Amino acid sequence: KVRLRVAPSPTGDPHVGTAYMSLFNLAFARQQGGRFLLRIEDTDRARFRADSEQQVFDTLEWLGLTWDEGPDKGGPCAPYRQSERLDTYRPYVDRLLAESKAYECWCSTERLTQMREIQQKTKQPTGYDRLCLGKTREERAALPGFSETPVVRMLIPDDVELEFDDLIRGRVSAPRPDDQVILKADGFPTYHLAVVVDDHEMGITHVVRGEEWISSTPKHILLYRWFGLEPPQWAHMPLLRNTDKSKISKRKNPAARLTWFREQGYLPEALVNFLALLAYPPATNEDGTDREVFSFDEFSAGFDWRKVNPVGPIFDLKKLDWLNGVYIRGLSVGELASRLLPFLVDDGIVGDNPSLGELARLKAVTALVQTRMAHLSEAPPLVRPFFVPDDALEIAEDARAALGDNAAEVIEAAGRALGDIDDHGTSVLGSDSGWTAEAIETALRTAIVDGLGIKPKFAFGPLRTAVSGARISPPLFESMEILGKTSTLNRLAALLA
Ligand code: ATP
Ligand code: GLU
Repeated sequence: KVRLRVAPSPTGDPHVGTAYMSLFNLAFARQQGGRFLLRIEDTDRARFRADSEQQVFDTLEWLGLTWDEGPDKGGPCAPYRQSERLDTYRPYVDRLLAESKAYECWCSTERLTQMREIQQKTKQPTGYDRLCLGKTREERAALPGFSETPVVRMLIPDDVELEFDDLIRGRVSAPRPDDQVILKADGFPTYHLAVVVDDHEMGITHVVRGEEWISSTPKHILLYRWFGLEPPQWAHMPLLRNTDKSKISKRKNPAARLTWFREQGYLPEALVNFLALLAYPPATNEDGTDREVFSFDEFSAGFDWRKVNPVGPIFDLKKLDWLNGVYIRGLSVGELASRLLPFLVDDGIVGDNPSLGELARLKAVTALVQTRMAHLSEAPPLVRPFFVPDDALEIAEDARAALGDNAAEVIEAAGRALGDIDDHGTSVLGSDSGWTAEAIETALRTAIVDGLGIKPKFAFGPLRTAVSGARISPPLFESMEILGKTSTLNRLAALLA
């Protein structure tokens, strides 16, 4: 059975690339009936951030990209956090040292920096110059640029294999590596050693990761050879790019942080669909036409590495916005309402434990705004007017300024006409109320458009402002129906006061 993994480093807010890699790993693992692991690669102590790991769990969970084994779930290869596996790596390093495939290096950081600067200035190939190779500690200590605690470096042989087969790219050729550090002075392995040891110990059959690791793969293949182990199969995913072709980066784009997508109100299923489409062709309908909207299960069922496009896809947020709208409109009203709830709670529009009445009202409002949103985060300003007390409704400056000369006349006429509608004293959501959007519309058209001869455009603007406080709002008559007769009349009166 296949075993795949994603191996993020907890260095901050999780990268959208982590979700993208997880998706392709998981799609194949599920298709093959194999397993998908989450391993935390926390060997870089300088960049380590304590809250990052939980954010990885939360964001991948949110996206539904769930793992079978991991630090939080355990599994047969535990622990799944590299910092807890230091004892595992040491024997591998000792073996390479004993076999003279690796050597200790005492060069100080300053010396290495100097060496690199000279190499760059004199246009020599950059890389470690092997000053420490073959020297004892004493011999090396007699030379400048010595540091007390050594690192361990691989001794890359002249015949290192630089070519390998990639499931996405076919035969790939990478540049010759220098003598890579595998064990750091702090006793932690570097990524290169840890990834090979762990992928082996965890039975990983397919390594699916970003194309920035292509140049490291020869080092990894060499380590497998030295340890007498069978290497996994490789698939190097194209990196996501900006329109100027630069790679998207957390430092430059807010949209590279996974938490950003959640905050903006993207639906997880839309983001997953989008990430798949970035490197994979659309699904095919029965009539042979393309279909860009597809589920994870559908993607996974038909998954084929040969269809992954190796060219770095442009991360086009407009496309995601479009997809998000499609998914929002595809939800049932009840489902959408429950997805909106956290945004409304965050904005203090409803409390943590909304009443049944509030939930019913939210559902009614949701039906009105469903087609007007590209992101869930757009809901609070649209929904707020339905939840504030009448005397707390704020009227936006621009809406007040746009009221026009006949606003008072329109509002007074509307008040009279609506006052005549019999709501049987039932609540808005009561089934036998005469207070319906149709009745409201008929009353208002009769009184204002026909009665006063005012065009609908001018007739309804002031009413919209009165009930919602904004120039743009959900449909007016339905909004009034949800607010109820009393509230609607209060708001009309308040605008005149
Ligand atoms: P920054 O994005 O600011 O450069 P970074 O490079 O440090 O931050 P990492 O934390 O190293 O980002 O990357 C986390 C994961 O996201 C890695 O597995 C990496 O392969 C992946 N990744 C980074 N950039 C991209 C990208 N442009 N497209 C796809 N995956 C990416
Ligand atoms: N920790 C590495 C990263 O975050 C893992 C790379 C790999 O999958 O081998 O990119």
